[in-house]
Amino acid sequence: MRSVHVVATGGTIASTSTGAGAVPTESVQELAAAYSGVFDRVDVRLEQLTQLPSSELTTDDLEAIGDRIRAAAADVDGVVVFHGTDTIEETAYYLDLVLDVDVPVVLTGAQRTHDEISPDGPANVRGALDAAAHDHVQDGVYVLFNEQLHAARAVTKRHSSNLDAYDSGDYGLVAERTPEGFWFYRRPESLSATIPARTITATVEVVTTSTDTDGSAIRHAVDRGVDGLVVDALGLGNVPTDVASAIESAIDDDVVVVVTTRCRDGVVSPVYGSDGGAKALEEAGVVFGSDLPAHKARIKLLVALSARGDIDDVRALFGSGQRDSYGYVTADSDP
Ligand code: ASP
Repeated sequence: MRSVHVVATGGTIASTSTGAGAVPTESVQELAAAYSGVFDRVDVRLEQLTQLPSSELTTDDLEAIGDRIRAAAADVDGVVVFHGTDTIEETAYYLDLVLDVDVPVVLTGAQRTHDEISPDGPANVRGALDAAAHDHVQDGVYVLFNEQLHAARAVTKRHSSNLDAYDSGDYGLVAERTPEGFWFYRRPESLSATIPARTITATVEVVTTSTDTDGSAIRHAVDRGVDGLVVDALGLGNVPTDVASAIESAIDDDVVVVVTTRCRDGVVSPVYGSDGGAKALEEAGVVFGSDLPAHKARIKLLVALSARGDIDDVRALFGSGQRDSYGYVTADSDP
């Protein structure tokens, strides 16, 4: 029988409705007892690490999850993490970046609380255990939801309540759980290059942009002493002129600035030459975040700066052609 270590952190999967709203109340042992038959096909070890909604998890908690996985990985065939759905993709991506273990790690959760009609927790856990124990899934970090296996690098929550909550955009699914077993659409493997950072020592904030945004949020963040900023820019990476001025000052103050796009798909690129255009930002010294959404770029920048990388290391880690993506361009691929 294959063995799986389960680390529970809270979230809706463990929640029940109280007078004050839904909160995590059920331990992993209680969930395992309630999910009749779900745990029967694997030799399972249960560990309760936290009992929190994922909106309350901090980078200290992410480090603790990583440490528990490292400790368990030598003795099991796979690891499953029960997690709130709100930030599951950030934790999954963090683990994908920092873990160097030889077993798959599969995160799952639920959109419906444990005491709702037809909760989705049991089926999601069954799928996650099956994926973590699957012969063909050797390593990497994944999110299993609604019978679909997503790569940590690609997955994003696209619906706040529907059971079909996750999407991998243009990357597509890794696999789907069918009545015949898992149907693989691609080789199950990590899409991220490992960055050796055991602890998060850097501070990084995300600043959004829209019509009328000025540079005040960036200036305040710099005054607070952040090490890095992710500016979620418009289109191909353009911002209003005052935002560009604030970015330039931040870089002069040795803050590393990563520019992402608020578009759901596509990369940042220095096409436009206005004062706040991505070409001007490139000349000012920003790092382009390729197609990473801002919240995942923040995780990557936290890890990269905590690994004591300098700006060139950070730039290389975010650059096109790095393994942190299936899609990439090389210098000579485009005439
Ligand atoms: N607020 C919950 C959380 O992220 C939502 C969920 O788990 O579905 O913990």
